[in-house]
Amino acid sequence: MRSTKRQAAVLLATLMGALACGPSDGAARPAERLSAQAGAPGIGDADFPLDGNGGYDVSHYALKLGYTPAGRRLDGVATIQATAKQSLTRFNLDLKGFKVSEVSVDGAAATFSRAGHELTVAPAAPLRQGSAFTVKVAYAGVPQPVVDSSNLGRYGFIPTPDGAFVACEPNGARTWFPGNDHPADKATFDFEITVPKGVTALANGELTGKPRTSGGKTTFTWREAHPMTTYLATATVGKFQLRQGTTPGGIRNLAAVDPKFAGSLDKLYKLSAEITDHWGTVFGRYPFSSTGGVVDDFSAGYALENQTKPLYGGFEPGADIIAHELAHQWFGNSLSIKRWKDLWLNEGFATYAEWLWAEHKGTGTADASFKSFYERPANDSIWAYPPGRARADDLFNESVYSRGAMTLHALRGAIGDETFFELLKTWTSEHQYGSVTTEQFVALAERMSGKQLDALFDAWLFQPKRPTL
Ligand SMILES: [Zn+2]
Repeated sequence: MRSTKRQAAVLLATLMGALACGPSDGAARPAERLSAQAGAPGIGDADFPLDGNGGYDVSHYALKLGYTPAGRRLDGVATIQATAKQSLTRFNLDLKGFKVSEVSVDGAAATFSRAGHELTVAPAAPLRQGSAFTVKVAYAGVPQPVVDSSNLGRYGFIPTPDGAFVACEPNGARTWFPGNDHPADKATFDFEITVPKGVTALANGELTGKPRTSGGKTTFTWREAHPMTTYLATATVGKFQLRQGTTPGGIRNLAAVDPKFAGSLDKLYKLSAEITDHWGTVFGRYPFSSTGGVVDDFSAGYALENQTKPLYGGFEPGADIIAHELAHQWFGNSLSIKRWKDLWLNEGFATYAEWLWAEHKGTGTADASFKSFYERPANDSIWAYPPGRARADDLFNESVYSRGAMTLHALRGAIGDETFFELLKTWTSEHQYGSVTTEQFVALAERMSGKQLDALFDAWLFQPKRPTL
């Protein structure tokens, strides 16, 4: 994720802020009091207590969607394969809005109820711990994106005149499909999206066949075969011009632009190719089956690193922001955070990648970028906000980005270029497609450098003041 504004937005009291004041980690949640065998309504992220769900782990989502831009109507059937991590008399899915018409578990009708964003499902018979099960949810309605969130504006499934702009970080996947909406539960995805003829549906991964048209509608089938967090899923719909091919390094490349940005198509295609190939030499082998980017005409004010298809909201992206979103394919997408407070592992790294790109092109150095931030006065807001503890009510604060990147530069200075760049590659290979924490990164940095680095990480990530050099 990167805002198109350099300064973080002014904070507003928001729903996210209210959620942050929810039950503390250890408190028994209402559902747990009602039944010891009910899955918890949250996955266990204290900052986002109702995000994701407890008691099961999703392995695959098959989403069959029909979307009509004119009526803004979405008809969906989600088939979710999961494994019970405990015995379950019932469990929750996250879903915002829509009318749910039918829920089944392993083919048998299940009872269900709604409360806020929680869809509670009670299978006909309890699920045994360790058992694999399939839950199917049929739903329909007008998607309601999340609005007025702090530093993000609008996100989720956002209807546009010709389709939809779909960017879901941090918890907007629930605005278009039911699921375990937290990055700690990754899964593979199949998408079958039917839209009016003449309109293109762009989801993650690869097309599994040629689009089929009949009765004035076209169906696109996409598959993301690598594990993906829910917030990186997309089904961006609209009129698009496409350019497809492979990068010089041999990776499939797809660029798509709204006709309003027709002049940007070749630039997006070429830069995405060049940058993906270059990051492959710096961060290790590209983790997915294709790269590229999508420019839609919805003025989101940000870009999001949707897996295999970063989405740019209403502007022609320059090399710096493309470098940022494509670096996320390693940092954030292949390696995903277990808890939102560790967001600097995504944003600090992607911001540092921008500095590295300037270094690679000879237009600047990471050291000059570091110094320009370090010169900010002692009362600048990035010193008051420790980036190693991203706050639920201000998740995308500038500090998480810039001071996160400064942390990496300070580390590079302490352990030397050779170890630093080896560390980046080891980090991405040891945790490929997995989930990570700050503690794991610190431990790896210490192991590879043979140095005690607690003081450095503490000063840069966790202290509310400017570190001394
Ligand atoms: Zn980002």
